[in-house]
Amino acid sequence: MSGDPALHSRRSLTLRFDIPISRTKEFWDALREGRFVTTKCKECGNVAFPPQADCSRCMSSQFEWVDLGKEATLVTFTRVQITPASFVENDPYVIAIAEFKGGTKALAWLEGVEAEKAKPGMKVKVESRTSKEGNPYYVFVQA
Ligand SMILES: [Zn+2]
Repeated sequence: MSGDPALHSRRSLTLRFDIPISRTKEFWDALREGRFVTTKCKECGNVAFPPQADCSRCMSSQFEWVDLGKEATLVTFTRVQITPASFVENDPYVIAIAEFKGGTKALAWLEGVEAEKAKPGMKVKVESRTSKEGNPYYVFVQA
């Protein structure tokens, strides 16, 4: 602290995101029903997560929805101690990558497992949740 006169202001900033979901609506509808689905390219068979409107491998826009199931294997994780500004209300959390049968990987918070107890190779399952704003999201929990 210097002795120079200063004005201090402490304000909260609210960010509003409007994310178009017209081409991924199926994913959010399925998640509300407790199913975890993604897109599979009809041209080359590429299964991508998150769902893609265009195939990153062959650029085709022809895709079908496939169910990834709920069970996955923890690949890696990290404990986020210093939360980013948009999660400043949250306690430190664990974020993880898990692999579904067939090899598709997804990133999500790992809920209910301390970082010290998490281990690559452990079985997890994906569960759907609803945010305070009423939006669906998903987490991994220990299977
Ligand atoms: Zn493709």
